[in-house]
Amino acid sequence: WKKISAEDQSKDELYEMKVTFNRMIDYLRENFEKQEMFVSDASHELKTPISIVKSYSQLMKRRGADNPELLEESTEAIESQADRMQKLVEQMLLLAKNKNQEVYEPFNLIELGRFTAETFSGAYAREIVFHASAEMIQINGSYDQLEQVLYILMDNAVKYSEEAVTLSIRKNGRYAEVAVKDNGPGISEADQEKIFDRFYRVDKSRSRETGGTGLGLSIAKVIAEAHGGTLSVSSTVGKGSVLTLILPLYLEN
Ligand code: ADP
Repeated sequence: WKKISAEDQSKDELYEMKVTFNRMIDYLRENFEKQEMFVSDASHELKTPISIVKSYSQLMKRRGADNPELLEESTEAIESQADRMQKLVEQMLLLAKNKNQEVYEPFNLIELGRFTAETFSGAYAREIVFHASAEMIQINGSYDQLEQVLYILMDNAVKYSEEAVTLSIRKNGRYAEVAVKDNGPGISEADQEKIFDRFYRVDKSRSRETGGTGLGLSIAKVIAEAHGGTLSVSSTVGKGSVLTLILPLYLEN
């Protein structure tokens, strides 16, 4: 055995410091690159509605005075593009929000599920099937944020499919499992990896028509993970998709 000399020890400490410092730099660089990417994707998404608004305003200026049809078409297009920009900005702000500010409280996930299913069957002329394995499944979290997650999953299921949508909630060990199932077109394996990425849409034109921004699932995933949970997909092309949200149960002790 050889005793570590004071000199050796300081060398070791210096090495440790270097490793920590390099790790910190890597972490900062990675986050900076992610931020840069987000800003560039966000600007890209905003460019289209902005240029549509601009071209319709120019058209109105040039030929709108004595053309009521053109005026109507232009104002409608401008309004719908403004709606789109509003949705994009609201969703981007949600992603940028400080997660630590949310208040977590225990609540019954079944109640939230039932309420969401009722809201969707009222709002769309669609069959929404609701299954719950118990009357009460307590979890600890932000009701508002988790309502938003369910809203995103249900909205996609209704948007991308034509038949009944099933929302089911059950206990699985120490976890609560929420599954949203549709019989829509399904998602290919290659796309399954990407749908949780910001701004990713499988079919850009269809998604844009239905008001999609490509941000919904990335927001849902951030919220799920902030609650110590996960969000995943299982899907077969031509058959449909199941989006599964798993959350830790609220254990009183
Ligand atoms: P969007 O606002 O476009 O719906 P999301 O992040 O919620 O954005 O979803 C990303 C993409 O994943 C969608 O554009 C769509 O192509 C695909 N997708 C999401 N849910 C489903 C589903 N239930 N069935 C088929 N495709 C889906």
